Amino acid sequence: MTLSPVFINFTYIISAILFIYGLKMLGHPDTARRGNLLSAIGMFIAVVVTLFAHEIVRFEYIVAGMLAGAIIGALAARMVAMTSMPEMVALFNGSGGAASLLVGWAVLYDELRPTVGVADGVLQTAVADASTFTLVTVMLSILIGGVTASGSVIAYAKLAEKMNSAAIVFSGQRIVNSLILLGIVVSAVMFTLDPAIGSMWFWMLLGLALLLGVMAVIPIGGADMPVVISLLNSYSGLAACAAGFAIGNNLLIVAGSTVGAAGMILTSIMCKAMNRSLANVLFSGFGAAKQASKVEGEAKPINVDDAYLILESASSVVFVPGYGMAVAQAQHVVRELGELLEKNGCEVNFAIHPVAGRMPGHMNVLLAEANVPYEQLVEMDDINPRLPNTDVAIVIGANDVVNPAAREDENSPIYGMPIINVDHARTVFVLKRSMGSGFSGVDNPLFFGENTRMLFGDAKQSISGLVAAFKG
Ligand code: NDP
Repeated sequence: MTLSPVFINFTYIISAILFIYGLKMLGHPDTARRGNLLSAIGMFIAVVVTLFAHEIVRFEYIVAGMLAGAIIGALAARMVAMTSMPEMVALFNGSGGAASLLVGWAVLYDELRPTVGVADGVLQTAVADASTFTLVTVMLSILIGGVTASGSVIAYAKLAEKMNSAAIVFSGQRIVNSLILLGIVVSAVMFTLDPAIGSMWFWMLLGLALLLGVMAVIPIGGADMPVVISLLNSYSGLAACAAGFAIGNNLLIVAGSTVGAAGMILTSIMCKAMNRSLANVLFSGFGAAKQASKVEGEAKPINVDDAYLILESASSVVFVPGYGMAVAQAQHVVRELGELLEKNGCEVNFAIHPVAGRMPGHMNVLLAEANVPYEQLVEMDDINPRLPNTDVAIVIGANDVVNPAAREDENSPIYGMPIINVDHARTVFVLKRSMGSGFSGVDNPLFFGENTRMLFGDAKQSISGLVAAFKG
Protein backbone atom coordinates (compact mmCIF):
# COMPACT_ATOMS: atom_id res chain seq x y z
CA MET A 1 0.00 0.00 0.00
CA THR A 2 1.37 3.44 -0.89
CA LEU A 3 0.12 6.50 0.93
CA SER A 4 -0.34 9.85 -0.78
CA PRO A 5 2.28 12.53 -0.01
CA VAL A 6 -0.49 14.82 1.29
CA PHE A 7 -1.60 12.20 3.82
CA ILE A 8 2.00 11.48 4.86
CA ASN A 9 2.72 15.19 5.43
CA PHE A 10 -0.53 15.61 7.35
CA THR A 11 0.40 12.82 9.78
CA TYR A 12 3.88 14.32 10.03
CA ILE A 13 2.32 17.59 11.18
CA ILE A 14 0.35 15.70 13.84
CA SER A 15 3.56 13.97 14.98
CA ALA A 16 5.40 17.30 15.12
CA ILE A 17 2.61 18.81 17.25
CA LEU A 18 2.82 15.81 19.60
CA PHE A 19 6.62 16.21 19.86
CA ILE A 20 6.45 19.89 20.71
CA TYR A 21 3.51 19.61 23.08
CA GLY A 22 5.16 16.60 24.78
CA LEU A 23 8.40 18.55 25.11
CA LYS A 24 6.56 21.42 26.76
CA MET A 25 4.93 19.02 29.24
CA LEU A 26 8.37 17.73 30.25
CA GLY A 27 8.87 21.12 31.90
CA HIS A 28 6.97 20.13 35.04
CA PRO A 29 7.20 16.88 37.06
CA ASP A 30 3.40 16.54 37.25
CA THR A 31 3.03 16.43 33.46
CA ALA A 32 6.43 15.00 32.47
CA ARG A 33 5.38 11.35 32.19
CA ARG A 34 2.38 12.19 30.01
CA GLY A 35 4.61 14.47 27.92
CA ASN A 36 7.04 11.64 27.35
CA LEU A 37 4.20 9.33 26.34
CA LEU A 38 2.75 11.93 23.93
CA SER A 39 6.12 12.38 22.21
CA ALA A 40 6.54 8.59 22.00
CA ILE A 41 3.10 8.30 20.36
CA GLY A 42 4.16 11.03 17.91
CA MET A 43 7.29 9.05 17.04
CA PHE A 44 5.30 5.81 16.69
CA ILE A 45 2.90 7.44 14.21
CA ALA A 46 5.85 8.91 12.30
CA VAL A 47 7.63 5.56 12.05
CA VAL A 48 4.52 3.65 10.95
CA VAL A 49 3.60 6.22 8.29
CA THR A 50 7.17 6.42 7.02
CA LEU A 51 7.19 2.65 6.57
CA PHE A 52 4.36 3.04 4.07
CA ALA A 53 6.21 5.68 2.06
CA HIS A 54 6.89 4.63 -1.49
CA GLU A 55 10.71 4.87 -1.21
CA ILE A 56 10.78 1.83 1.04
CA VAL A 57 11.48 -1.19 -1.12
CA ARG A 58 12.58 -3.83 1.38
CA PHE A 59 11.25 -4.38 4.87
CA GLU A 60 13.54 -7.23 6.00
CA TYR A 61 16.47 -5.00 6.97
CA ILE A 62 14.18 -2.43 8.58
CA VAL A 63 12.46 -5.02 10.75
CA ALA A 64 15.82 -6.57 11.72
CA GLY A 65 17.19 -3.09 12.57
CA MET A 66 14.09 -2.19 14.60
CA LEU A 67 14.30 -5.45 16.55
CA ALA A 68 18.02 -5.04 17.25
CA GLY A 69 17.49 -1.39 18.29
CA ALA A 70 14.52 -2.25 20.53
CA ILE A 71 16.47 -5.02 22.28
CA ILE A 72 19.55 -2.84 22.82
CA GLY A 73 17.39 0.08 24.05
CA ALA A 74 15.34 -2.06 26.45
CA LEU A 75 18.44 -3.78 27.87
CA ALA A 76 20.26 -0.47 28.26
CA ALA A 77 17.30 1.14 30.02
CA ARG A 78 17.01 -1.77 32.47
CA MET A 79 20.65 -2.54 33.08
CA VAL A 80 22.46 0.80 33.07
CA ALA A 81 22.75 2.26 36.57
CA MET A 82 21.36 5.75 37.16
CA THR A 83 24.90 6.95 37.88
CA SER A 84 26.03 5.81 34.42
CA MET A 85 23.18 7.55 32.59
CA PRO A 86 25.36 10.40 31.19
CA GLU A 87 27.67 7.88 29.54
CA MET A 88 24.64 6.21 27.99
CA VAL A 89 23.27 9.55 26.79
CA ALA A 90 26.69 10.28 25.24
CA LEU A 91 26.58 6.96 23.34
CA PHE A 92 22.99 7.56 22.21
CA ASN A 93 23.97 11.01 20.91
CA GLY A 94 26.86 9.39 19.08
CA SER A 95 24.51 6.81 17.54
CA GLY A 96 22.25 9.64 16.33
CA GLY A 97 25.22 11.36 14.72
CA ALA A 98 26.44 8.13 13.12
CA ALA A 99 22.93 7.41 11.78
CA SER A 100 22.75 10.84 10.12
CA LEU A 101 26.22 10.35 8.66
CA LEU A 102 25.16 7.00 7.17
CA VAL A 103 21.89 8.44 5.80
CA GLY A 104 23.87 11.24 4.09
CA TRP A 105 26.33 8.72 2.70
CA ALA A 106 23.52 6.49 1.40
CA VAL A 107 21.85 9.45 -0.34
CA LEU A 108 25.14 10.29 -2.00
CA TYR A 109 25.57 6.72 -3.19
CA ASP A 110 22.03 6.64 -4.50
CA GLU A 111 22.30 9.96 -6.35
CA LEU A 112 25.73 9.38 -7.87
CA ARG A 113 25.33 5.73 -8.80
CA PRO A 114 25.62 5.28 -12.58
CA THR A 115 22.36 4.09 -14.09
CA VAL A 116 22.48 1.39 -16.70
CA GLY A 117 19.84 1.08 -19.38
CA VAL A 118 19.26 0.01 -22.97
CA ALA A 119 18.53 2.67 -25.58
CA ASP A 120 18.13 1.92 -29.30
CA GLY A 121 19.27 -1.63 -28.59
CA VAL A 122 22.58 -0.39 -27.11
CA LEU A 123 23.59 -0.80 -23.43
CA GLN A 124 24.12 2.71 -22.06
CA THR A 125 25.58 3.96 -18.79
CA ALA A 126 24.59 7.41 -17.51
CA VAL A 127 26.26 9.09 -14.57
CA ALA A 128 23.56 10.54 -12.36
CA ASP A 129 24.05 14.08 -11.22
CA ALA A 130 23.12 15.27 -7.74
CA SER A 131 21.85 18.84 -7.30
CA THR A 132 24.07 21.31 -5.43
CA PHE A 133 21.40 21.56 -2.72
CA THR A 134 21.47 17.79 -2.13
CA LEU A 135 25.27 17.77 -2.12
CA VAL A 136 25.44 20.60 0.44
CA THR A 137 22.92 18.96 2.77
CA VAL A 138 24.69 15.61 2.43
CA MET A 139 28.05 17.23 3.20
CA LEU A 140 26.50 18.85 6.29
CA SER A 141 24.95 15.61 7.56
CA ILE A 142 28.27 13.79 7.08
CA LEU A 143 30.24 16.61 8.70
CA ILE A 144 27.98 17.24 11.73
CA GLY A 145 27.14 13.54 12.09
CA GLY A 146 30.83 12.60 12.00
CA VAL A 147 31.81 15.24 14.58
CA THR A 148 28.94 14.11 16.83
CA ALA A 149 29.77 10.41 16.51
CA SER A 150 33.49 10.59 17.31
CA GLY A 151 33.08 13.43 19.83
CA SER A 152 30.45 11.40 21.70
CA VAL A 153 32.69 8.34 21.85
CA ILE A 154 35.42 10.48 23.46
CA ALA A 155 32.87 12.03 25.87
CA TYR A 156 31.72 8.49 26.78
CA ALA A 157 35.31 7.30 27.30
CA LYS A 158 36.07 10.29 29.53
CA LEU A 159 32.92 9.93 31.62
CA ALA A 160 33.28 6.16 31.98
CA GLU A 161 36.94 6.75 32.88
CA LYS A 162 38.06 4.54 30.01
CA MET A 163 40.48 7.39 29.30
CA ASN A 164 41.89 10.22 31.39
CA SER A 165 39.03 12.65 32.03
CA ALA A 166 41.38 15.62 32.41
CA ALA A 167 41.65 18.24 29.66
CA ILE A 168 44.24 17.23 27.06
CA VAL A 169 45.91 20.35 25.73
CA PHE A 170 49.13 20.83 23.78
CA SER A 171 50.87 23.77 22.18
CA GLY A 172 49.71 24.49 18.66
CA GLN A 173 46.33 22.82 19.31
CA ARG A 174 44.40 25.73 17.87
CA ILE A 175 46.57 25.77 14.74
CA VAL A 176 45.98 22.02 14.26
CA ASN A 177 42.23 22.52 14.71
CA SER A 178 42.21 25.44 12.26
CA LEU A 179 44.04 23.30 9.69
CA ILE A 180 41.47 20.51 10.15
CA LEU A 181 38.67 23.03 9.62
CA LEU A 182 40.37 24.39 6.52
CA GLY A 183 40.82 20.83 5.23
CA ILE A 184 37.09 20.19 5.75
CA VAL A 185 36.06 23.30 3.81
CA VAL A 186 38.46 22.51 0.94
CA SER A 187 37.33 18.84 0.74
CA ALA A 188 33.64 19.80 0.81
CA VAL A 189 34.06 22.43 -1.93
CA MET A 190 36.19 20.15 -4.12
CA PHE A 191 33.74 17.29 -3.73
CA THR A 192 30.76 19.49 -4.55
CA LEU A 193 32.52 20.74 -7.70
CA ASP A 194 33.28 17.22 -8.91
CA PRO A 195 31.13 14.69 -7.05
CA ALA A 196 31.85 11.01 -7.62
CA ILE A 197 31.53 7.81 -5.64
CA GLY A 198 34.95 6.93 -4.19
CA SER A 199 36.29 10.47 -4.66
CA MET A 200 39.38 11.19 -2.55
CA TRP A 201 37.72 14.43 -1.35
CA PHE A 202 34.82 12.48 0.12
CA TRP A 203 37.10 10.24 2.16
CA MET A 204 39.07 13.27 3.31
CA LEU A 205 35.89 15.02 4.46
CA LEU A 206 34.75 11.92 6.33
CA GLY A 207 38.12 11.37 8.02
CA LEU A 208 38.57 15.03 8.96
CA ALA A 209 35.00 15.27 10.38
CA LEU A 210 35.71 12.28 12.66
CA LEU A 211 39.08 13.77 13.64
CA LEU A 212 37.47 17.15 14.41
CA GLY A 213 35.04 15.45 16.83
CA VAL A 214 37.96 13.92 18.72
CA MET A 215 39.97 17.16 18.72
CA ALA A 216 36.96 19.19 19.87
CA VAL A 217 36.30 17.04 22.95
CA ILE A 218 39.79 16.07 24.20
CA PRO A 219 40.63 19.59 25.48
CA ILE A 220 37.47 19.59 27.60
CA GLY A 221 37.64 17.86 30.92
CA GLY A 222 36.44 17.59 34.47
CA ALA A 223 33.40 19.57 35.40
CA ASP A 224 32.70 20.77 31.84
CA MET A 225 31.61 17.36 30.52
CA PRO A 226 27.86 17.96 31.10
CA VAL A 227 27.97 20.96 28.79
CA VAL A 228 29.71 18.93 26.11
CA ILE A 229 27.09 16.19 26.30
CA SER A 230 24.32 18.71 25.96
CA LEU A 231 26.11 20.34 23.02
CA LEU A 232 26.67 16.98 21.31
CA ASN A 233 22.97 16.27 21.82
CA SER A 234 22.24 19.49 19.99
CA TYR A 235 24.67 18.51 17.19
CA SER A 236 22.99 15.13 16.79
CA GLY A 237 19.73 17.02 16.20
CA LEU A 238 21.34 19.33 13.64
CA ALA A 239 22.87 16.33 11.86
CA ALA A 240 19.42 14.69 11.71
CA CYS A 241 17.97 17.96 10.40
CA ALA A 242 20.59 18.06 7.60
CA ALA A 243 19.85 14.39 6.82
CA GLY A 244 16.14 15.32 6.71
CA PHE A 245 16.89 17.93 3.99
CA ALA A 246 19.06 15.41 2.14
CA ILE A 247 16.28 12.79 1.90
CA GLY A 248 13.45 15.36 1.73
CA ASN A 249 11.75 14.15 4.92
CA ASN A 250 9.87 17.00 6.61
CA LEU A 251 9.47 15.26 9.96
CA LEU A 252 13.17 14.52 10.27
CA ILE A 253 13.79 18.23 9.65
CA VAL A 254 11.29 19.21 12.38
CA ALA A 255 12.48 16.59 14.91
CA GLY A 256 16.15 17.32 14.19
CA SER A 257 15.78 21.07 14.55
CA THR A 258 13.74 20.61 17.76
CA VAL A 259 16.52 18.50 19.28
CA GLY A 260 19.12 20.96 17.96
CA ALA A 261 17.36 23.95 19.52
CA ALA A 262 16.53 22.19 22.81
CA GLY A 263 20.15 21.03 23.19
CA MET A 264 21.42 24.54 22.46
CA ILE A 265 19.07 26.07 25.07
CA LEU A 266 20.15 23.50 27.69
CA THR A 267 23.81 24.16 26.83
CA SER A 268 23.28 27.87 27.35
CA ILE A 269 21.47 27.30 30.69
CA MET A 270 24.33 25.10 31.90
CA CYS A 271 26.98 27.61 30.85
CA LYS A 272 25.09 30.29 32.77
CA ALA A 273 24.95 27.96 35.81
CA MET A 274 28.72 27.74 35.68
CA ASN A 275 29.13 31.46 34.91
CA ARG A 276 31.11 30.64 31.79
CA SER A 277 30.71 31.45 28.12
CA LEU A 278 30.39 28.53 25.71
CA ALA A 279 33.64 29.61 24.03
CA ASN A 280 35.38 29.48 27.40
CA VAL A 281 34.04 25.98 28.08
CA LEU A 282 35.06 24.70 24.65
CA PHE A 283 38.43 26.31 24.22
CA SER A 284 39.93 27.08 27.62
CA GLY A 285 40.96 23.50 28.55
CA PHE A 286 39.31 23.20 31.96
CA GLY A 287 41.75 22.94 34.82
CA ALA A 288 44.71 22.40 32.51
CA ALA A 289 46.43 25.70 33.17
CA LYS A 290 45.20 26.66 36.62
CA GLN A 291 46.44 25.36 39.92
CA ALA A 292 44.10 25.93 42.87
CA SER A 293 45.57 27.37 46.07
CA LYS A 294 46.49 24.68 48.57
CA VAL A 295 43.73 23.96 51.09
CA GLU A 296 44.92 23.33 54.63
CA GLY A 297 43.25 22.99 58.01
CA GLU A 298 41.73 20.47 60.33
CA ALA A 299 38.43 18.83 59.59
CA LYS A 300 36.06 18.31 62.53
CA PRO A 301 34.32 14.92 62.39
CA ILE A 302 30.96 14.34 64.04
CA ASN A 303 29.10 11.11 64.77
CA VAL A 304 25.44 10.26 64.15
CA ASP A 305 24.39 10.72 67.80
CA ASP A 306 25.82 14.25 68.07
CA ALA A 307 24.47 15.18 64.65
CA TYR A 308 21.01 14.01 65.81
CA LEU A 309 21.15 16.28 68.88
CA ILE A 310 21.85 19.33 66.68
CA LEU A 311 19.14 18.38 64.17
CA GLU A 312 16.62 17.70 66.91
CA SER A 313 16.80 21.34 68.01
CA ALA A 314 17.02 22.83 64.49
CA SER A 315 14.09 24.86 63.19
CA SER A 316 15.26 25.00 59.56
CA VAL A 317 17.21 22.44 57.55
CA VAL A 318 18.31 22.53 53.91
CA PHE A 319 19.41 19.28 52.25
CA VAL A 320 21.93 19.70 49.43
CA PRO A 321 22.09 16.47 47.42
CA GLY A 322 24.91 15.66 45.00
CA TYR A 323 26.38 12.78 43.07
CA GLY A 324 27.16 10.81 46.26
CA MET A 325 23.43 10.59 47.07
CA ALA A 326 22.92 8.85 43.71
CA VAL A 327 25.84 6.47 44.40
CA ALA A 328 24.53 5.64 47.88
CA GLN A 329 20.89 5.48 46.63
CA ALA A 330 20.05 7.43 49.76
CA GLN A 331 17.07 9.37 48.34
CA HIS A 332 14.40 7.29 50.10
CA VAL A 333 15.96 7.57 53.57
CA VAL A 334 16.61 11.27 52.92
CA ARG A 335 12.87 11.77 52.27
CA GLU A 336 12.12 9.86 55.48
CA LEU A 337 14.51 12.05 57.48
CA GLY A 338 12.91 15.14 55.94
CA GLU A 339 9.46 13.96 57.07
CA LEU A 340 10.71 13.24 60.60
CA LEU A 341 12.29 16.69 60.80
CA GLU A 342 9.03 18.29 59.64
CA LYS A 343 7.10 16.34 62.26
CA ASN A 344 9.55 17.78 64.76
CA GLY A 345 8.45 21.29 63.71
CA CYS A 346 11.39 21.99 61.40
CA GLU A 347 11.17 23.72 58.00
CA VAL A 348 12.74 21.44 55.37
CA ASN A 349 13.93 22.30 51.88
CA PHE A 350 16.08 20.68 49.21
CA ALA A 351 18.54 22.88 47.35
CA ILE A 352 19.05 21.91 43.72
CA HIS A 353 22.18 22.93 41.84
CA PRO A 354 21.77 22.80 38.02
CA VAL A 355 24.84 20.56 37.55
CA ALA A 356 24.67 18.47 40.74
CA GLY A 357 25.09 14.78 40.00
CA ARG A 358 26.08 13.59 36.57
CA MET A 359 23.28 14.73 34.28
CA PRO A 360 20.89 17.68 34.00
CA GLY A 361 17.98 17.18 36.38
CA HIS A 362 19.71 14.22 38.10
CA MET A 363 18.72 15.29 41.62
CA ASN A 364 15.16 16.19 40.61
CA VAL A 365 14.70 12.70 39.16
CA LEU A 366 16.06 10.95 42.26
CA LEU A 367 14.01 13.04 44.69
CA ALA A 368 10.87 12.65 42.59
CA GLU A 369 11.45 8.87 42.62
CA ALA A 370 11.47 9.04 46.44
CA ASN A 371 8.25 11.15 46.41
CA VAL A 372 9.81 14.27 47.89
CA PRO A 373 7.16 17.00 47.42
CA TYR A 374 8.08 19.16 44.44
CA GLU A 375 7.36 22.35 46.44
CA GLN A 376 10.32 21.52 48.72
CA LEU A 377 12.78 21.62 45.81
CA VAL A 378 14.36 25.07 45.68
CA GLU A 379 16.69 26.26 42.93
CA MET A 380 20.15 27.58 43.75
CA ASP A 381 19.36 31.29 43.19
CA ASP A 382 16.34 31.09 45.49
CA ILE A 383 17.94 29.12 48.31
CA ASN A 384 21.18 31.11 48.58
CA PRO A 385 19.63 34.23 50.17
CA ARG A 386 17.86 31.94 52.68
CA LEU A 387 20.97 30.05 53.82
CA PRO A 388 22.28 32.65 56.34
CA ASN A 389 19.02 32.09 58.26
CA THR A 390 19.20 28.30 58.02
CA ASP A 391 20.16 26.30 61.12
CA VAL A 392 21.66 23.27 59.40
CA ALA A 393 22.67 22.60 55.80
CA ILE A 394 23.09 18.85 55.20
CA VAL A 395 25.36 18.16 52.22
CA ILE A 396 24.69 14.63 50.98
CA GLY A 397 27.48 13.46 48.69
CA ALA A 398 27.82 16.86 47.02
CA ASN A 399 31.24 18.43 46.67
CA ASP A 400 31.98 20.68 43.66
CA VAL A 401 28.57 22.36 43.79
CA VAL A 402 29.18 23.56 47.37
CA ASN A 403 32.90 24.38 47.01
CA PRO A 404 33.53 27.97 48.26
CA ALA A 405 36.76 28.02 46.20
CA ALA A 406 34.52 28.63 43.19
CA ARG A 407 33.52 31.91 44.83
CA GLU A 408 36.78 32.94 46.48
CA ASP A 409 39.88 31.40 44.89
CA GLU A 410 40.67 33.10 41.59
CA ASN A 411 43.27 30.40 40.85
CA SER A 412 40.77 27.58 41.22
CA PRO A 413 39.81 25.80 37.97
CA ILE A 414 36.17 26.11 39.05
CA TYR A 415 36.41 29.82 39.94
CA GLY A 416 33.27 31.66 38.80
CA MET A 417 30.97 28.60 38.89
CA PRO A 418 27.95 29.61 40.99
CA ILE A 419 27.61 27.37 44.04
CA ILE A 420 25.12 26.71 46.81
CA ASN A 421 26.53 28.77 49.68
CA VAL A 422 26.13 26.13 52.40
CA ASP A 423 29.04 27.70 54.32
CA HIS A 424 26.71 30.65 55.05
CA ALA A 425 24.37 28.40 57.09
CA ARG A 426 24.81 28.31 60.87
CA THR A 427 26.01 24.70 60.81
CA VAL A 428 26.99 22.47 57.89
CA PHE A 429 27.03 18.67 57.95
CA VAL A 430 29.01 17.12 55.10
CA LEU A 431 28.12 13.46 54.50
CA LYS A 432 30.77 11.65 52.49
CA ARG A 433 33.13 8.73 52.89
CA SER A 434 36.51 10.48 52.86
CA MET A 435 38.23 13.83 52.38
CA GLY A 436 38.47 13.04 48.64
CA SER A 437 37.60 15.56 45.94
CA GLY A 438 34.62 15.51 43.58
CA PHE A 439 34.31 15.25 39.81
CA SER A 440 36.52 18.25 39.08
CA GLY A 441 39.35 16.92 41.27
CA VAL A 442 39.57 20.23 43.16
CA ASP A 443 40.10 20.38 46.96
CA ASN A 444 37.24 21.79 49.00
CA PRO A 445 37.92 24.36 51.79
CA LEU A 446 34.34 23.82 53.04
CA PHE A 447 35.52 20.68 54.87
CA PHE A 448 37.78 22.81 57.11
CA GLY A 449 35.20 25.54 57.81
CA GLU A 450 34.62 26.71 61.39
CA ASN A 451 30.93 25.73 61.20
CA THR A 452 31.44 22.46 59.23
CA ARG A 453 31.18 18.99 60.73
CA MET A 454 32.16 15.94 58.68
CA LEU A 455 29.85 12.95 59.04
CA PHE A 456 32.03 10.29 57.42
CA GLY A 457 30.54 7.15 55.90
CA ASP A 458 28.19 6.01 53.17
CA ALA A 459 25.39 8.58 52.90
CA LYS A 460 22.60 5.99 53.11
CA GLN A 461 24.04 4.50 56.29
CA SER A 462 24.59 7.91 57.93
CA ILE A 463 21.07 9.09 57.08
CA SER A 464 19.57 5.76 58.17
CA GLY A 465 21.38 6.24 61.49
CA LEU A 466 19.80 9.68 61.89
CA VAL A 467 16.36 8.30 60.98
CA ALA A 468 16.79 5.55 63.62
CA ALA A 469 17.81 8.16 66.22
CA PHE A 470 14.70 10.26 65.46
CA LYS A 471 12.47 7.20 65.71
CA GLY A 472 14.04 6.69 69.13
P1 NDP B 1 30.96 15.71 43.08
O1 NDP B 1 31.36 14.79 41.98
O2 NDP B 1 31.65 17.02 43.14
O3 NDP B 1 31.15 15.01 44.49
C1 NDP B 1 30.51 13.83 44.80
C2 NDP B 1 30.95 13.41 46.18
O4 NDP B 1 30.14 12.32 46.55
C3 NDP B 1 32.38 12.92 46.21
O5 NDP B 1 33.23 13.89 46.77
C4 NDP B 1 32.31 11.63 47.05
O6 NDP B 1 33.16 11.75 48.19
C5 NDP B 1 30.86 11.57 47.51
N1 NDP B 1 30.33 10.21 47.50
C6 NDP B 1 30.46 9.26 46.57
N2 NDP B 1 29.85 8.14 46.96
C7 NDP B 1 29.31 8.38 48.17
C8 NDP B 1 28.54 7.61 49.09
N3 NDP B 1 28.21 6.33 48.83
N4 NDP B 1 28.14 8.19 50.22
C9 NDP B 1 28.48 9.46 50.51
N5 NDP B 1 29.20 10.24 49.68
C10 NDP B 1 29.61 9.70 48.53
O7 NDP B 1 29.38 15.88 42.97
P2 NDP B 1 28.48 17.19 42.85
O8 NDP B 1 27.10 16.67 42.66
O9 NDP B 1 28.76 18.13 43.97
O10 NDP B 1 28.97 17.93 41.56
C11 NDP B 1 28.74 17.40 40.28
C12 NDP B 1 29.99 17.48 39.48
O11 NDP B 1 29.83 16.64 38.34
C13 NDP B 1 30.27 18.88 39.00
O12 NDP B 1 31.65 19.09 38.91
C14 NDP B 1 29.62 18.86 37.61
O13 NDP B 1 30.14 19.84 36.76
C15 NDP B 1 29.97 17.45 37.16
N6 NDP B 1 29.06 16.84 36.19
C16 NDP B 1 27.75 17.17 36.21
C17 NDP B 1 26.89 16.64 35.30
C18 NDP B 1 25.45 17.07 35.29
O14 NDP B 1 24.87 17.20 34.22
N7 NDP B 1 24.88 17.26 36.45
C19 NDP B 1 27.35 15.63 34.28
C20 NDP B 1 28.76 15.30 34.39
C21 NDP B 1 29.56 15.93 35.31
P3 NDP B 1 33.76 10.43 48.86
O15 NDP B 1 34.44 9.67 47.80
O16 NDP B 1 34.69 10.97 49.90
O17 NDP B 1 32.62 9.69 49.46
